[in-house]
Amino acid sequence: MFDDHLFPTYTRYPISFTRGKGSWLYDKEGANYVDFASGIAVASFGHCHPKLVEALCQQASMLWHVSNLVDIPQSQRLAERLASITFADRVFFANSGAEANECAIKSARKYQYQRGYPGRYRILTLQNAFHGRTLGTIAATGQDKYLEGFGPKVDGFDTLPIENHEEIAAWVSDASAAIMIEPIQGEGGVKVISHEHLIFLRQLCDTHGLLLIFDEVQTGMGRTGDLFAYSRSGVTPDILTVAKGLGGGFPIGACLATNDVAVAMGPGSHASTFGGNPLAMACGNVVLDLLLERDFFKLMGEKACYVRSELHDIKNSFPELISDIRGVGLLIGIQVSVNNSIFISEAYRQGLVLVGGGDNTVRILPALNIPQEDLKEGLYRLRCVCTEIRRNALPNVEKI
Ligand SMILES: *Cc1c(COP(=O)(O)O)cnc(C)c1O
Repeated sequence: MFDDHLFPTYTRYPISFTRGKGSWLYDKEGANYVDFASGIAVASFGHCHPKLVEALCQQASMLWHVSNLVDIPQSQRLAERLASITFADRVFFANSGAEANECAIKSARKYQYQRGYPGRYRILTLQNAFHGRTLGTIAATGQDKYLEGFGPKVDGFDTLPIENHEEIAAWVSDASAAIMIEPIQGEGGVKVISHEHLIFLRQLCDTHGLLLIFDEVQTGMGRTGDLFAYSRSGVTPDILTVAKGLGGGFPIGACLATNDVAVAMGPGSHASTFGGNPLAMACGNVVLDLLLERDFFKLMGEKACYVRSELHDIKNSFPELISDIRGVGLLIGIQVSVNNSIFISEAYRQGLVLVGGGDNTVRILPALNIPQEDLKEGLYRLRCVCTEIRRNALPNVEKI
Protein backbone atom coordinates (compact mmCIF):
# COMPACT_ATOMS: atom_id res chain seq x y z
CA MET A 1 0.00 0.00 0.00
CA PHE A 2 1.20 3.48 -0.84
CA ASP A 3 0.65 4.99 2.60
CA ASP A 4 1.64 2.19 4.99
CA HIS A 5 3.91 4.39 7.06
CA LEU A 6 1.54 7.30 7.40
CA PHE A 7 -1.14 7.46 10.08
CA PRO A 8 -4.28 6.05 8.57
CA THR A 9 -6.15 9.30 9.29
CA TYR A 10 -7.23 9.94 5.72
CA THR A 11 -9.25 7.95 3.26
CA ARG A 12 -7.25 8.78 0.21
CA TYR A 13 -8.24 8.36 -3.38
CA PRO A 14 -5.48 6.22 -4.99
CA ILE A 15 -4.10 8.89 -7.23
CA SER A 16 -1.09 11.16 -7.03
CA PHE A 17 -0.30 14.23 -9.02
CA THR A 18 3.19 15.01 -10.17
CA ARG A 19 2.68 18.44 -11.66
CA GLY A 20 0.25 21.31 -11.67
CA LYS A 21 -0.11 24.38 -13.87
CA GLY A 22 -2.88 26.90 -13.37
CA SER A 23 -6.13 24.98 -12.98
CA TRP A 24 -4.70 21.73 -14.35
CA LEU A 25 -3.19 18.76 -12.56
CA TYR A 26 -1.26 15.90 -14.16
CA ASP A 27 -0.64 12.41 -12.81
CA LYS A 28 2.31 10.03 -13.38
CA GLU A 29 0.74 8.67 -16.54
CA GLY A 30 0.33 12.19 -17.85
CA ALA A 31 -3.47 12.16 -17.59
CA ASN A 32 -4.90 15.63 -17.02
CA TYR A 33 -7.47 16.81 -14.49
CA VAL A 34 -9.35 20.06 -14.16
CA ASP A 35 -8.81 21.19 -10.59
CA PHE A 36 -12.08 22.30 -9.00
CA ALA A 37 -10.67 21.71 -5.49
CA SER A 38 -7.58 23.94 -5.28
CA GLY A 39 -6.24 21.68 -2.52
CA ILE A 40 -9.33 22.55 -0.44
CA ALA A 41 -9.58 26.26 -1.25
CA VAL A 42 -5.84 26.80 -0.80
CA ALA A 43 -4.21 27.20 -4.22
CA SER A 44 -6.40 30.20 -4.97
CA PHE A 45 -4.31 31.35 -7.90
CA GLY A 46 -3.86 27.93 -9.41
CA HIS A 47 -0.74 25.80 -9.36
CA CYS A 48 2.69 27.32 -9.85
CA HIS A 49 1.51 30.85 -10.57
CA PRO A 50 4.61 32.53 -12.08
CA LYS A 51 4.52 35.43 -9.61
CA LEU A 52 4.26 33.09 -6.61
CA VAL A 53 7.03 30.85 -7.94
CA GLU A 54 9.24 33.87 -8.53
CA ALA A 55 8.65 35.37 -5.08
CA LEU A 56 9.15 32.05 -3.31
CA CYS A 57 12.33 31.19 -5.22
CA GLN A 58 13.73 34.64 -4.68
CA GLN A 59 13.06 34.49 -0.95
CA ALA A 60 14.39 30.92 -0.81
CA SER A 61 17.71 32.10 -2.20
CA MET A 62 17.92 34.97 0.35
CA LEU A 63 16.70 33.73 3.74
CA TRP A 64 14.37 30.97 4.92
CA HIS A 65 13.85 31.27 8.61
CA VAL A 66 14.98 33.44 11.50
CA SER A 67 12.23 33.16 14.20
CA ASN A 68 10.27 35.92 15.86
CA LEU A 69 13.15 36.77 18.16
CA VAL A 70 14.07 39.31 15.50
CA ASP A 71 12.14 41.63 13.25
CA ILE A 72 10.78 40.08 10.04
CA PRO A 73 10.09 43.02 7.68
CA GLN A 74 8.03 40.84 5.31
CA SER A 75 5.64 40.03 8.16
CA GLN A 76 5.38 43.70 9.13
CA ARG A 77 4.51 44.45 5.54
CA LEU A 78 1.87 41.73 5.19
CA ALA A 79 0.33 42.67 8.56
CA GLU A 80 0.18 46.32 7.58
CA ARG A 81 -1.45 45.49 4.26
CA LEU A 82 -4.01 43.13 5.84
CA ALA A 83 -4.84 45.82 8.39
CA SER A 84 -5.23 48.44 5.67
CA ILE A 85 -7.88 46.40 3.83
CA THR A 86 -9.84 45.24 6.90
CA PHE A 87 -11.32 46.48 10.19
CA ALA A 88 -8.26 45.05 11.95
CA ASP A 89 -5.28 46.91 13.37
CA ARG A 90 -2.97 44.02 14.17
CA VAL A 91 -2.16 40.53 12.96
CA PHE A 92 -0.66 37.40 14.53
CA PHE A 93 0.83 34.96 12.02
CA ALA A 94 0.46 31.22 12.50
CA ASN A 95 0.82 28.25 10.15
CA SER A 96 -2.69 26.87 9.74
CA GLY A 97 -6.35 27.57 10.21
CA ALA A 98 -6.62 25.74 13.51
CA GLU A 99 -3.68 27.68 14.89
CA ALA A 100 -5.14 30.98 13.74
CA ASN A 101 -8.34 29.99 15.59
CA GLU A 102 -6.40 29.04 18.72
CA CYS A 103 -4.97 32.55 18.69
CA ALA A 104 -8.48 33.99 18.26
CA ILE A 105 -9.82 31.95 21.19
CA LYS A 106 -6.93 32.83 23.47
CA SER A 107 -7.18 36.50 22.48
CA ALA A 108 -10.90 36.65 23.29
CA ARG A 109 -10.35 35.11 26.71
CA LYS A 110 -7.34 37.27 27.46
CA TYR A 111 -9.20 40.41 26.36
CA GLN A 112 -11.96 39.74 28.88
CA TYR A 113 -9.38 38.90 31.55
CA GLN A 114 -7.46 42.13 30.99
CA ARG A 115 -10.72 44.12 31.17
CA GLY A 116 -11.20 42.74 34.65
CA TYR A 117 -13.49 39.82 33.83
CA PRO A 118 -11.39 36.69 34.41
CA GLY A 119 -14.58 34.62 34.67
CA ARG A 120 -15.64 35.50 31.15
CA TYR A 121 -14.14 32.71 29.11
CA ARG A 122 -17.00 30.84 27.44
CA ILE A 123 -17.38 30.99 23.69
CA LEU A 124 -20.53 30.25 21.75
CA THR A 125 -20.17 28.39 18.47
CA LEU A 126 -22.80 27.15 16.04
CA GLN A 127 -23.97 23.67 15.20
CA ASN A 128 -22.48 22.17 12.04
CA ALA A 129 -19.39 24.39 12.40
CA PHE A 130 -15.81 23.48 11.65
CA HIS A 131 -12.94 25.30 13.33
CA GLY A 132 -10.04 22.83 13.15
CA ARG A 133 -8.54 19.70 14.71
CA THR A 134 -6.54 20.83 17.74
CA LEU A 135 -7.99 20.01 21.16
CA GLY A 136 -9.25 23.59 21.48
CA THR A 137 -10.71 23.85 18.01
CA ILE A 138 -12.48 20.46 18.11
CA ALA A 139 -14.15 21.70 21.28
CA ALA A 140 -15.13 24.87 19.39
CA THR A 141 -16.37 22.74 16.49
CA GLY A 142 -18.49 20.86 19.00
CA GLN A 143 -19.41 17.89 16.79
CA ASP A 144 -19.22 14.40 18.29
CA LYS A 145 -17.55 12.92 15.22
CA TYR A 146 -14.49 15.10 15.81
CA LEU A 147 -14.48 14.80 19.63
CA GLU A 148 -15.03 11.09 20.14
CA GLY A 149 -12.20 9.23 21.84
CA PHE A 150 -10.09 12.23 22.68
CA GLY A 151 -10.96 12.52 26.35
CA PRO A 152 -12.71 15.39 28.05
CA LYS A 153 -13.70 18.19 25.71
CA VAL A 154 -11.78 21.39 26.43
CA ASP A 155 -14.06 23.44 28.67
CA GLY A 156 -15.48 26.77 27.66
CA PHE A 157 -17.35 26.08 24.42
CA ASP A 158 -21.09 25.89 23.96
CA THR A 159 -22.74 24.90 20.70
CA LEU A 160 -26.21 26.06 19.74
CA PRO A 161 -28.46 25.77 16.67
CA ILE A 162 -27.68 28.35 14.01
CA GLU A 163 -30.86 30.37 13.72
CA ASN A 164 -32.28 30.06 17.21
CA HIS A 165 -32.17 33.66 18.45
CA GLU A 166 -33.92 32.93 21.72
CA GLU A 167 -31.59 30.14 22.80
CA ILE A 168 -28.56 32.16 21.75
CA ALA A 169 -29.70 35.24 23.69
CA ALA A 170 -30.42 33.05 26.73
CA TRP A 171 -26.87 31.65 26.54
CA VAL A 172 -25.33 35.01 27.47
CA SER A 173 -24.16 35.11 31.08
CA ASP A 174 -21.38 36.62 33.16
CA ALA A 175 -19.19 33.75 31.93
CA SER A 176 -19.54 34.68 28.23
CA ALA A 177 -16.51 35.97 26.34
CA ALA A 178 -17.27 35.71 22.63
CA ILE A 179 -19.29 34.28 19.77
CA MET A 180 -17.31 32.49 17.08
CA ILE A 181 -18.80 31.62 13.69
CA GLU A 182 -18.01 30.95 10.07
CA PRO A 183 -20.05 33.47 8.03
CA ILE A 184 -20.46 30.63 5.54
CA GLN A 185 -19.97 27.12 6.94
CA GLY A 186 -17.57 25.51 4.48
CA GLU A 187 -16.80 21.99 5.70
CA GLY A 188 -20.37 21.74 6.97
CA GLY A 189 -21.66 21.81 3.40
CA VAL A 190 -21.50 25.45 2.27
CA LYS A 191 -24.24 26.85 4.47
CA VAL A 192 -24.61 30.59 4.30
CA ILE A 193 -25.45 32.25 7.63
CA SER A 194 -28.19 34.80 6.94
CA HIS A 195 -27.49 38.51 7.04
CA GLU A 196 -30.22 38.91 9.62
CA HIS A 197 -28.52 36.38 11.88
CA LEU A 198 -25.13 38.08 11.55
CA ILE A 199 -26.70 41.40 12.56
CA PHE A 200 -28.41 39.72 15.51
CA LEU A 201 -25.10 38.25 16.70
CA ARG A 202 -23.27 41.58 16.31
CA GLN A 203 -25.92 43.38 18.35
CA LEU A 204 -25.89 40.72 21.03
CA CYS A 205 -22.12 41.04 21.34
CA ASP A 206 -22.31 44.84 21.52
CA THR A 207 -25.03 44.78 24.17
CA HIS A 208 -23.16 42.39 26.44
CA GLY A 209 -19.51 43.29 25.87
CA LEU A 210 -18.71 40.11 23.94
CA LEU A 211 -16.33 39.77 21.04
CA LEU A 212 -17.49 38.57 17.64
CA ILE A 213 -15.03 36.21 15.96
CA PHE A 214 -15.35 35.32 12.28
CA ASP A 215 -13.55 32.18 11.19
CA GLU A 216 -12.82 33.09 7.57
CA VAL A 217 -10.21 30.39 7.12
CA GLN A 218 -12.19 29.16 4.10
CA THR A 219 -14.27 32.22 3.13
CA GLY A 220 -11.49 34.79 3.38
CA MET A 221 -8.96 36.06 0.83
CA GLY A 222 -11.37 36.48 -2.05
CA ARG A 223 -13.14 33.12 -2.08
CA THR A 224 -16.62 34.67 -1.88
CA GLY A 225 -15.99 37.33 -4.54
CA ASP A 226 -15.07 39.96 -1.95
CA LEU A 227 -11.86 40.19 0.02
CA PHE A 228 -13.69 38.71 3.03
CA ALA A 229 -17.19 37.40 3.59
CA TYR A 230 -17.66 40.01 6.31
CA SER A 231 -17.04 42.86 3.85
CA ARG A 232 -19.91 41.53 1.77
CA SER A 233 -22.20 41.15 4.80
CA GLY A 234 -21.57 44.59 6.28
CA VAL A 235 -21.26 43.02 9.74
CA THR A 236 -17.78 43.59 11.16
CA PRO A 237 -16.17 41.19 13.64
CA ASP A 238 -13.62 42.06 16.32
CA ILE A 239 -11.39 39.14 15.46
CA LEU A 240 -11.04 37.40 12.09
CA THR A 241 -9.02 34.35 11.14
CA VAL A 242 -7.72 33.46 7.68
CA ALA A 243 -5.48 30.69 6.41
CA LYS A 244 -6.34 28.49 3.43
CA GLY A 245 -6.09 30.94 0.52
CA LEU A 246 -3.68 33.35 2.18
CA GLY A 247 -0.45 31.66 1.06
CA GLY A 248 -1.62 30.47 -2.37
CA GLY A 249 -0.49 26.96 -1.38
CA PHE A 250 2.18 27.83 1.16
CA PRO A 251 1.18 26.98 4.76
CA ILE A 252 0.15 30.09 6.65
CA GLY A 253 -2.55 31.27 9.01
CA ALA A 254 -3.36 34.64 10.50
CA CYS A 255 -5.46 36.05 13.30
CA LEU A 256 -6.54 39.65 12.69
CA ALA A 257 -7.92 41.81 15.47
CA THR A 258 -8.69 45.33 16.58
CA ASN A 259 -6.01 47.08 18.58
CA ASP A 260 -8.10 46.75 21.78
CA VAL A 261 -8.09 42.99 21.48
CA ALA A 262 -4.52 42.62 20.26
CA VAL A 263 -2.96 44.66 23.07
CA ALA A 264 -4.42 42.23 25.58
CA MET A 265 -2.00 39.68 24.13
CA GLY A 266 1.15 41.16 25.59
CA PRO A 267 4.74 39.93 25.29
CA GLY A 268 5.02 36.25 26.12
CA SER A 269 1.28 35.52 25.96
CA HIS A 270 1.43 33.65 22.65
CA ALA A 271 4.03 32.53 20.14
CA SER A 272 4.80 30.40 17.13
CA THR A 273 8.23 29.22 16.03
CA PHE A 274 7.36 29.22 12.35
CA GLY A 275 4.72 31.97 12.31
CA GLY A 276 5.61 34.86 10.03
CA ASN A 277 8.31 32.81 8.31
CA PRO A 278 9.84 34.83 5.40
CA LEU A 279 8.88 32.18 2.81
CA ALA A 280 5.24 32.21 3.90
CA MET A 281 5.23 36.00 4.06
CA ALA A 282 6.65 36.26 0.54
CA CYS A 283 3.76 34.13 -0.73
CA GLY A 284 1.14 35.98 1.30
CA ASN A 285 2.28 39.31 -0.06
CA VAL A 286 2.01 38.07 -3.65
CA VAL A 287 -1.48 36.64 -3.04
CA LEU A 288 -2.50 40.07 -1.80
CA ASP A 289 -0.94 41.75 -4.88
CA LEU A 290 -2.96 39.43 -7.11
CA LEU A 291 -6.22 39.94 -5.21
CA LEU A 292 -5.83 43.70 -5.27
CA GLU A 293 -5.21 43.88 -9.02
CA ARG A 294 -7.65 46.16 -10.80
CA ASP A 295 -10.89 44.51 -11.89
CA PHE A 296 -9.95 41.24 -10.24
CA PHE A 297 -13.25 40.91 -8.39
CA LYS A 298 -15.21 42.11 -11.41
CA LEU A 299 -13.75 39.28 -13.50
CA MET A 300 -14.21 36.79 -10.69
CA GLY A 301 -17.83 37.86 -10.27
CA GLU A 302 -18.49 37.15 -13.94
CA LYS A 303 -16.97 33.69 -13.58
CA ALA A 304 -19.00 32.97 -10.45
CA CYS A 305 -22.19 33.98 -12.31
CA TYR A 306 -21.29 31.76 -15.23
CA VAL A 307 -20.62 28.73 -12.99
CA ARG A 308 -23.85 29.26 -11.12
CA SER A 309 -25.97 29.42 -14.25
CA GLU A 310 -24.22 26.38 -15.76
CA LEU A 311 -24.69 24.44 -12.52
CA HIS A 312 -28.40 25.23 -12.49
CA ASP A 313 -28.52 23.99 -16.05
CA ILE A 314 -26.85 20.74 -15.01
CA LYS A 315 -29.24 20.45 -12.06
CA ASN A 316 -32.17 20.82 -14.44
CA SER A 317 -30.76 18.05 -16.65
CA PHE A 318 -30.14 15.76 -13.66
CA PRO A 319 -32.82 16.60 -11.08
CA GLU A 320 -32.60 13.09 -9.60
CA LEU A 321 -28.87 13.57 -8.93
CA ILE A 322 -28.50 17.16 -7.75
CA SER A 323 -30.85 18.44 -5.10
CA ASP A 324 -29.37 21.81 -4.15
CA ILE A 325 -26.79 24.35 -5.25
CA ARG A 326 -25.59 26.95 -2.78
CA GLY A 327 -22.73 29.23 -1.89
CA VAL A 328 -21.28 32.61 -2.71
CA GLY A 329 -18.62 33.54 -5.26
CA LEU A 330 -16.42 30.52 -5.96
CA LEU A 331 -17.30 28.78 -2.68
CA ILE A 332 -19.95 26.48 -4.06
CA GLY A 333 -21.64 23.40 -2.66
CA ILE A 334 -23.85 21.06 -4.63
CA GLN A 335 -25.89 18.61 -2.66
CA VAL A 336 -26.07 15.28 -4.45
CA SER A 337 -28.47 12.38 -4.09
CA VAL A 338 -25.90 9.60 -4.42
CA ASN A 339 -23.24 9.21 -1.73
CA ASN A 340 -20.90 12.17 -2.35
CA SER A 341 -17.83 9.90 -2.32
CA ILE A 342 -19.28 7.99 -5.27
CA PHE A 343 -19.75 11.27 -7.09
CA ILE A 344 -16.19 12.38 -6.34
CA SER A 345 -14.69 9.03 -7.43
CA GLU A 346 -16.54 9.23 -10.73
CA ALA A 347 -15.24 12.79 -11.13
CA TYR A 348 -11.64 11.56 -10.78
CA ARG A 349 -12.38 9.02 -13.51
CA GLN A 350 -13.64 11.82 -15.72
CA GLY A 351 -10.54 13.96 -15.03
CA LEU A 352 -12.11 16.37 -12.58
CA VAL A 353 -11.03 17.05 -8.99
CA LEU A 354 -13.78 17.93 -6.50
CA VAL A 355 -13.98 18.08 -2.68
CA GLY A 356 -16.59 16.57 -0.40
CA GLY A 357 -18.39 18.45 2.34
CA GLY A 358 -20.96 17.90 5.07
CA ASP A 359 -24.63 17.34 4.30
CA ASN A 360 -23.63 15.05 1.41
CA THR A 361 -22.33 17.95 -0.64
CA VAL A 362 -19.64 18.15 -3.25
CA ARG A 363 -17.72 21.41 -3.13
CA ILE A 364 -16.55 23.31 -6.18
CA LEU A 365 -13.63 25.52 -5.19
CA PRO A 366 -11.77 26.48 -8.35
CA ALA A 367 -8.82 28.85 -8.48
CA LEU A 368 -10.16 32.40 -8.22
CA ASN A 369 -8.37 33.26 -11.47
CA ILE A 370 -9.40 30.15 -13.39
CA PRO A 371 -9.56 30.92 -17.12
CA GLN A 372 -13.03 30.80 -18.65
CA GLU A 373 -12.13 27.92 -20.98
CA ASP A 374 -10.89 25.77 -18.07
CA LEU A 375 -14.07 26.51 -16.18
CA LYS A 376 -16.02 25.45 -19.23
CA GLU A 377 -14.04 22.23 -19.58
CA GLY A 378 -14.48 21.44 -15.88
CA LEU A 379 -18.23 21.97 -16.11
CA TYR A 380 -18.36 19.78 -19.21
CA ARG A 381 -16.60 17.02 -17.26
CA LEU A 382 -19.03 17.54 -14.38
CA ARG A 383 -21.87 16.92 -16.82
CA CYS A 384 -20.09 13.73 -17.93
CA VAL A 385 -19.88 12.65 -14.27
CA CYS A 386 -23.66 13.04 -13.94
CA THR A 387 -24.31 11.22 -17.22
CA GLU A 388 -22.11 8.32 -16.13
CA ILE A 389 -23.72 8.04 -12.69
CA ARG A 390 -27.17 8.11 -14.27
CA ARG A 391 -26.13 5.42 -16.74
CA ASN A 392 -24.76 3.20 -13.96
CA ALA A 393 -27.94 3.64 -11.96
CA LEU A 394 -30.10 2.31 -14.80
CA PRO A 395 -31.01 -1.39 -14.80
CA ASN A 396 -28.41 -3.40 -16.75
CA VAL A 397 -30.70 -4.26 -19.58
CA GLU A 398 -31.17 -0.62 -20.51
CA LYS A 399 -27.43 -0.03 -20.70
CA ILE A 400 -26.98 -2.23 -23.74
C1 LIG B 1 -10.00 24.32 7.02
C2 LIG B 1 -10.63 25.10 8.10
C3 LIG B 1 -10.06 25.18 9.39
C4 LIG B 1 -8.83 24.39 9.77
O1 LIG B 1 -7.71 24.76 9.06
P1 LIG B 1 -6.36 23.88 9.15
O2 LIG B 1 -5.38 24.65 8.34
O3 LIG B 1 -6.68 22.54 8.60
O4 LIG B 1 -6.00 23.82 10.58
C5 LIG B 1 -10.68 25.98 10.31
N1 LIG B 1 -11.78 26.67 10.03
C6 LIG B 1 -12.37 26.63 8.82
C7 LIG B 1 -13.59 27.43 8.55
C8 LIG B 1 -11.82 25.83 7.81
O5 LIG B 1 -12.41 25.75 6.62
